[in-house]
Formats: sequence, C-alpha cells, structure tokens
Amino acid sequence: MLRNDQLAEWDRENFFHASTHLAQHARGETPSRIITGGSGVYIEDRDGKRLLDAFAGLYCVNAGYGQSEITDAIADQARELAYYHAYAGHGTEASITLAKMVLDRAPSHMSKVYFGLSGSDANETNIKLVWYYNNILNRPEKKKIISRWRGYHGSGLMTGSLTGLDLFHKKFDLPLNQVIHTEAPYYFRRADRTMSEAAFTAHCAAELEALIEREGADTIAAFIGEPVLGTGGIVPPPAGYWDAIQTVLRKHDILLIVDEVITGFGRLGTMFASDHYGLQPDLMTIAKGLTSAYAPLSGSIVSDKMWKVLEKGTDEYGPIGHGWTYSAHPIGAAAGVANLKLIDALGLVANAKNVGAYLLDAMRDALGTHPNVGDIRGSGLLCAVELVEDREKHLLFDSSRKVNALIVAEMQSNGVIARAMPQADIVGFAPPFCLSEDEADVVVKATQNAIRTVLG
Ligand code: PLP
Repeated sequence: MLRNDQLAEWDRENFFHASTHLAQHARGETPSRIITGGSGVYIEDRDGKRLLDAFAGLYCVNAGYGQSEITDAIADQARELAYYHAYAGHGTEASITLAKMVLDRAPSHMSKVYFGLSGSDANETNIKLVWYYNNILNRPEKKKIISRWRGYHGSGLMTGSLTGLDLFHKKFDLPLNQVIHTEAPYYFRRADRTMSEAAFTAHCAAELEALIEREGADTIAAFIGEPVLGTGGIVPPPAGYWDAIQTVLRKHDILLIVDEVITGFGRLGTMFASDHYGLQPDLMTIAKGLTSAYAPLSGSIVSDKMWKVLEKGTDEYGPIGHGWTYSAHPIGAAAGVANLKLIDALGLVANAKNVGAYLLDAMRDALGTHPNVGDIRGSGLLCAVELVEDREKHLLFDSSRKVNALIVAEMQSNGVIARAMPQADIVGFAPPFCLSEDEADVVVKATQNAIRTVLG
C-alpha cells in the first residue's frame, strides 16, 4: 500500500479530535498516532509498531481485534441491506434478533430495548423516558436526576451534565439545572481516613438521603450510576454500597438507571454488573461491548414497570416522539448479533473473570509494596493502579506533575497501552476479554518497569 506522508499534516490541519488538547495538537506538540490494524489484543500503527492494547480502545473492543465472525457479519449485512429505519414498526432481522438476544441476557424484569448509536445518546434517551414516564403518571414536578461526582455518562448536554468530572462542565455552562450530584463511592479517597468500609457505605447512603430530603423527593425522578465508576477512576464500590443505595431509592420512589456501558456483556465476569451487584434497574444503558465497537450501537433497556407506563402514554398521546435516523441501524445490529454469539462461543465472559482475577493478583504481587502505589483495585477485567507521593501519609501527587501520563507514555514506548485516567493519578486497564495470562504478565511487567523508570 502507498504510504501517504501527508497524513500527519492533514490531521493537524483538518481533523477536530475528541478529548484532545486542540492547540497543542494543531501546533504538532502532541503525537498523532495513526492506527492501521489489529488482531486479538494487539493493534498496529502505520510505522509498524505493535502495541498490546490493555484498554481495548476505550474499554470497548471486548471480543478483541480482527474477529472475522463479526467483520463478515457486517459485510454480509451491508451487501444484503445496508439500511432501513426503525420508525413506525419497521425492523430488520438483525435488529429484532439482537433485541431478543439482549433481553435473553438481561435481568428478567427488563422488557424492551431501544437501540441508539452511542452511550451518550442512550443516556439522553433514558432521561427523556424518565421525564415522559413521570408526566404520564401525572407527576410533572418529579424531574431532577441525581448522578455522582466522578460518574461518567457521556458528553452531550444532558449526559455531560450527568458526568461528574470538571473537565466536561467547565466553560460549557454545564451541568444543566435538572442534574444534581452526590458523593462518589470512592473509599480510597474518603475524607475521613478513620472510616471503615461499612461506615463509608452508610455515609454515602446517608449523603444521598440528605440530598433527597433537601431537594424534596417529589422533585427527584431518577438516580443514575455506573456499577463500578469507570472514567472517574475505575473504582469498585465499597461493600454493601448498592444495597444501601437501592434501599434509599425505593423508600423515596426514585427510579434507578444503571449505566452498563462499560460493564455490560461481561467485563466484570458476569453478563451484566447488575447480576454481580444484585441491582434492580428501571433502565439500563448499554453500548461499547454490545458490538465490541465493530460498529456504533447502543441501547436503553426498559423494565416492565416503565414499559407499561410508556404504552399507556402512547395510547393517550400518540406515537412516542423519540427516534433517530440510525436507531437500530442494521449494520450495527448485525455486528451485535455476531459479537454476542462469539462471546458465548469463546467463553469470553468466563475468561474475563478468570484472567481478570489473575491480572489483579499479579499487579498486586508486582506493585503492592511500591512506596508510590497507594491502591490497586479492580473487578473482572477492570483494574486500576493509583499513585501517591507518600503512601504512609496518604499524600497525593501535585496534579501538575501528571505522573500517570508520564507512566502511560513510558508504557506505550515499551509496547503496552494503558490509560491515564483524567481526574487523579490513576493508571487504568480494561483489556479485551480474550487476554491470556501470558499477555496479562506482559501488561504487569510493563507497568512495573514504567513506574520504576518514572518514580524510581
Ligand atoms: N456511560 C459510560 C459508563 C461510559 O463509560 C461512556 C463512555 O465511555 C458513556 C456512557 C458514553 O458513551 P459514548 O462515548 O459512546 O457516548
């Protein structure tokens, strides 16, 4: 293939990258890496450098790169019927089959799935459905949404508001005033170091309840949360957290939206994190792992309880005023069907559980006593190493040192991709589910070496 030597220049001149320092990139101060191929857990750039992608793109290429079952299904669908819409009762074999496959895997009280394109738009759909639901139930005041600080739910207007990270708010006039945030269930960073895990769980539930009482339960429609905080730091909740939160929500008649965009379809070693934590969602958000990112597709899974009210609404007011040209796009749906079949056929959910446990143990063995490693945590194939200036005093690094970015850059130069999480000195891992134990060892070694190089 002819190599286009102008690509880097065209990139700087024309391409508006997501989540990028725009000025530095335009000035050519940040590297532009052009990815050309991938197979299993590896990607390759156009300079021929092979990298073990221990973040599966953006925690999404769960089945691994280059899976021909999925790419063939996409090609077949494109040839047979590249597009038809899903409005007014239309569907395709792929979209209907995928809806059934999703519901077969979801908790038994879930009823229907609406397909969108991204995690962000699925959460926008969810909030619209919550508002519609309360309007149909004649509760027009019950509209506010509670999210958590450090939650990540997308970067649209509503979903960027739900996201509890400063970078997504400042200078965008967000959050919108219907959104309020409560404490992150982040035990390692609790303000009161003397608190036990159980006491911290009780504290988070009490904070939530105090917020509900301050605002008035009759003004609050829903609570949204990721089962394990993702972009906010890869933080599994303290023991008992979800039971305690669900008790408060039930008491105040507040809906629960479980954002399974990262955790859905196996990342924690169970099909959904809702199974893992005993969650009873009213709505579930899915994306990423639904197609392993081979094509853009997301979903809002609606519970029986909400579905009945949505049906009543359309009997009273006519067809639901919600939909996109690309809702349930057949190419995405075909990718989803092939992906879920492949995940089953290769036993990838079990592999996520087993190799995830292996990775976490190996990371703890390698780094558990390093003076700058404050916490090593994970669940399934999610893992994080949090760095501190002084482990005994629990002193954090000055954020301007960007310690995690330096470590991740060092790892990349040694052939392993991890993610410098955006808010705090955390190195994150979320590899494809086909990761082997040998490949997990490569990731751990690269992390250990990079931490030694950067911090000693
Ligand atoms: N929800 C969660 C938990 C996510 O991690 C993300 C993206 O990382 C989103 C929603 C938004 O998904 P998308 O980037 O596809 O809009």
